[in-house]
Amino acid sequence: MAATCKWVVSYPGFLWPTNLLLLAISAAAWFLTQPDVARCVHLEAGWIGQVYLRNLALMWLYYGGFHLHLYILKREGTKGKYDPNWPAENSRRFLFHDQVYDNIFWTCGVAGLIWTAYEVGTLWLYANHRIPWLEWTRHPVYFVLWFFVIPFWREFHFYWVHRLIHWKPLYRHVHYLHHKNSNPNAWSGMAMHPVETILYLSVVLIHWVVPSHPFHFLFDLQHAALGPAGGHHGFEGPILNDKFPTGSYFHYLHHRYFECNYGESTVPLDRWFGTFRDGLPDGAGSKLAGEHQD
Ligand SMILES: [Zn+2]
Ligand SMILES: [Zn+2]
Repeated sequence: MAATCKWVVSYPGFLWPTNLLLLAISAAAWFLTQPDVARCVHLEAGWIGQVYLRNLALMWLYYGGFHLHLYILKREGTKGKYDPNWPAENSRRFLFHDQVYDNIFWTCGVAGLIWTAYEVGTLWLYANHRIPWLEWTRHPVYFVLWFFVIPFWREFHFYWVHRLIHWKPLYRHVHYLHHKNSNPNAWSGMAMHPVETILYLSVVLIHWVVPSHPFHFLFDLQHAALGPAGGHHGFEGPILNDKFPTGSYFHYLHHRYFECNYGESTVPLDRWFGTFRDGLPDGAGSKLAGEHQD
């Protein structure tokens, strides 16, 4: 019990830095940029455009921030970089023959639209009282607990969706696109086929059934849409003068070896279902010990 509490509050731990950073981003988005739910009764260009532009801005700030620091300014050099090679240029594997441009296209050009579509649809449902709305004043404990549960739910959902799209027909037509990035970079996280993005972001459909506040929904959606930046940027943190723990060797190994590490490492589903790989040929001595989702 004491160890669990320590893991929750320690740095890095369950809360710090990733989950609280994403919660802070969602809170800022909620208070500063989210259209009032009462406005969303009708599907109108004004509030839909506001949500879309805000989501695009978040993508450029979050994914672009990692890209700027790690790949343009190269502030960390190759220190901690899993693969010493930089993103592919002049490669026919990628759109525009450039891995980063390809990844930006699938992230901003396609995933941003699907992200916004989920958000617009759900806000419309909330505004029209078609889905259950949790009042935080009436259920304050439940309201707070939901924020703790959402990251676990995300990993659980991701694991099973990910296993589904590794089913050969879906892999061949859908998930192959994400796996072109055997050496992923900051923009690779949401570089997905649209069918994969729809399945991946379906994590938020739980809020259509389980009573939630629209802020829970927003946090869940932004956690899913922005979180992959840290899992794909290809560096083992800490970065920023060794102050910011980030990176996912766990998911990097998935891009290297494909048939392993379908989930993340907070919920040990890969260990339970025999798909865990620690990267070492003899399976002994995990480099991943203590690593959590970034
Ligand atoms: Zn990936
Ligand atoms: Zn995969």
